[in-house]
Amino acid sequence: ARATIGLTGLAVMGSNLARNIASRGTTIAVHNRSTEKMTRLLDEHGDEAREQGGELVGCESLEDLVAAIEKPRTVIVMVKAGEATDAVIEDLVPLLEPGDVVVDAGNAHVDDTLRRQSALEEHDLHFVGMGVSGGEEGALNGPSIMVGGSEHAYANLGPVVESIAAVVDGTPCAAHVGPDGAGHFVKMVHNGIEYADMQLIAESYDLLRGVARLEPAQIAEVFHGWNEGDLESFLIEMTADVLSHTDADTGQPFIDVVADAAEQKGTGRWTVQIALDLGVPVTGIAEATFARSLSGHTDQRKAVRETFGSDTHDVEVDVEAFVDDVASALYASKVVAYAQGFDQVMAGSREHDWDVDPGQLATIWRGGCIIRARFLDRIREAYAENGDLTSLLVAPFFADAVRDGLAAWRRVVVIAAQAGVPAPAFASSLAYFDALRRDRLPAALVQGLRDNFGAHTYQRIDKDGTFHTTWAGDRTEHEA
Ligand code: NDP
Repeated sequence: ARATIGLTGLAVMGSNLARNIASRGTTIAVHNRSTEKMTRLLDEHGDEAREQGGELVGCESLEDLVAAIEKPRTVIVMVKAGEATDAVIEDLVPLLEPGDVVVDAGNAHVDDTLRRQSALEEHDLHFVGMGVSGGEEGALNGPSIMVGGSEHAYANLGPVVESIAAVVDGTPCAAHVGPDGAGHFVKMVHNGIEYADMQLIAESYDLLRGVARLEPAQIAEVFHGWNEGDLESFLIEMTADVLSHTDADTGQPFIDVVADAAEQKGTGRWTVQIALDLGVPVTGIAEATFARSLSGHTDQRKAVRETFGSDTHDVEVDVEAFVDDVASALYASKVVAYAQGFDQVMAGSREHDWDVDPGQLATIWRGGCIIRARFLDRIREAYAENGDLTSLLVAPFFADAVRDGLAAWRRVVVIAAQAGVPAPAFASSLAYFDALRRDRLPAALVQGLRDNFGAHTYQRIDKDGTFHTTWAGDRTEHEA
C-alpha cells in the first residue's frame, strides 16, 4: 500500500480531481468501473503526475484500489449521483476495515448522506458527504470543497482537499464545515444560491434587451463593465462571455439560437423542498427553480402566447440610467438571495446540530466555486463583525447597499411590470424585503380567516394566550 488516498469514478469530475490531487505531489490510487477510463487517464496524464511529484496508481478492481491505499484508508467515490453511489458503496464496504473512510464527492441529497452515514457506522466505517463546486475546470485547477463527516475522517482527507482547493488571500477554499450531512447540505444550498444568482442575471439581461433594446453584444459590454465593480463575480464575467459569443453556423448571437428551456439536475429543487420543511422563505431560489420549470412548459407557453400575443410595451427609459438601475436592482436582489441562502444553511445547522460557521462558509465560497464573487468577502466580513447576524440584510455594508439601491430597485420592478417583461426574482426579492420591513403584515387577516373557517385559533398583540372567536355564534372571544 503506497497511496495516500484512492478515488473511484473517473468521468470528467473524478479524473480531474485525481489529476489535481496528484499534481500536489500526492500518490493517489485510481479506479473506474469500466477499466478503459482508468487506463486512458494513466496513458494521458500518468507522466505529467510524476513530473509534478505525485503519482496516479491505476487499479483494475475495487480490491486492488483498497489494497493500494495506506490505512486507515480514504476512498473518494465520484460516480453518478443516486443508485450508482449506493452500488459502489455496497461493493466497497466488505473490502474495508474499521476506521476507513468513504467519501461521496457527488451531489447527494442530505437524507441519502445521513442514511449512508448510519449504514457505514454499523461497520465502524466513517462516511463523508463532500460537496465539490467549480465544475470540471474547478475540479482540475482548484475547486471549493465543503466537507462533512467526522474529525477522524478529516484528519487524512483535510490536508489533501486543502492542497487542491482554490486559494484566496492565502486561505484554501476547503474546510470541514460540520459533521455528517453538513458538507452536502451546504453544497446543496450553494447550488440553490447559484440558481437564484443566474436567474437574477438572466432577468437583468432580459430587461436590458426587452426594455432598453440593447443588442446581446452591447449587453455583454454592460456585464463586462459590471464585472469591474461591486458586482464582480464569476457568473457576471461568464455572462459577458456567453452574450458576446457568435454562433458559427448562423452568424447569429449564440444566445438567439439556444433553446429557451432551462434544465436542472435537482439541487435547486432539493433546496426549495428542504426550505419548505424548515420553514425558511428562500423565495429567490424558489423563483429561479420555478422559472426553469416554466421555461420547459412549451405547450402552455405557446397557448398563452397565441391567446394574448407576445408583445411587450414600450417604456421610455434613459438607457444609461436604466443600466445603472438594473445594476442596483441586481445587487440588492442578490443580497436577498444570499441572505435567504445563509438563513437556510443556519436553519439546517440548527435542525441537525451541525454548528456550521457562516463566516467560514463565506470564506471558502470566495474562490473555486460557481458563485465565487467579491460579494462573498463582504459576507465573510459581515459575520466576522457579528457572528449572530439575524439577516445579512442588516449587516451595515449590505444595509447601506440596499438603502442606496432601493429607489432603483423599485423603478426596475415597476418598469418590468409596465413593459411586460417578467422579472420574478427581482419582484419577489423586493417583496421579501418589504415584507420583512413592514410594521403590520396581513398575516393578521390570514389568522382571522383561519380561525373563522377552521377554529384554528389566534394570538393577540395585547395579551398572552391563544384565542378563538365564535364566528358563527355570538362572536364572543374565548381563551382556547
Ligand atoms: P457522471 O455523473 O456522468 O458519472 C459517470 C461516472 O459514474 C463514471 O465513472 C461511471 O462509470 C460511474 N458509474 C455510473 N454508474 C455506476 C455504477 N452503477 N457503478 C459504478 N460506477 C458507476 O460523472 P461526472 O464526472 O459528471 O459527475 C460525477 C459526480 O460529481 C456526480 O455525482 C455529480 O453530481 C458530481 N458533480 C458534478 C459536477 C459537474 O460539473 N459535472 C460538479 C459538481 C459535482 P463508467 O465509466 O464505468 O460508466
